[in-house]
Amino acid sequence: MSANIGPELQRLIDLLAKMPGLGPRSAKRAALYLLKKREPVMRPLAFALAEAADKVKACAVCGNWDSIDPCAICADATRDKTVLCVVQDVGDLWALERAGAHRGRYHVLGGLLSPLDGIGPDDLNIGALVARAQGGAVKEIVLALSATVDGQTTAHYLSERLGETGVSVTRLSQGVPVGGELDYLDEGTLAAAMKTRRPV
Ligand SMILES: [Zn+2]
Repeated sequence: MSANIGPELQRLIDLLAKMPGLGPRSAKRAALYLLKKREPVMRPLAFALAEAADKVKACAVCGNWDSIDPCAICADATRDKTVLCVVQDVGDLWALERAGAHRGRYHVLGGLLSPLDGIGPDDLNIGALVARAQGGAVKEIVLALSATVDGQTTAHYLSERLGETGVSVTRLSQGVPVGGELDYLDEGTLAAAMKTRRPV
């Protein structure tokens, strides 16, 4: 805390510094930018933050963020109900949508299993996934998880849990580099990986 920065500005900088990818230095730069762009950026941003905090919720069916529940994807009757694509986070869902790689529905786990970080099955949206698999409408579940150690641990665990339900479980194949995070892949690679998915 610098003695020359007022408390309001310091609080803004401290909060900005909590954003992923923003350290204290870039948080200061962002705060100064906002002050300079008070009317075109800062006030609309404050309004957008408050609105999003009030209205955006996790879809009770799939875990996607939306202001309606069920979300627009779950509510879309033209999408294939029989294929569920399992993703780590909503960012990966957006990447798959951008690539036009999947015309079915999704299930957002909210993270990956990570024994080292103490993240177990109960910390993720897995119970609801098993329930959806048991519901009868779903024929195939595609595990679209990053090719990292945690992603593979999670895929292995899910294939065992879902294997008991009788639903066919597949995973993305070629094009996902080892250690690769899904939402960094370009659309073409992601679309190819989805098309060439294979049984787990
Ligand atoms: Zn949904």
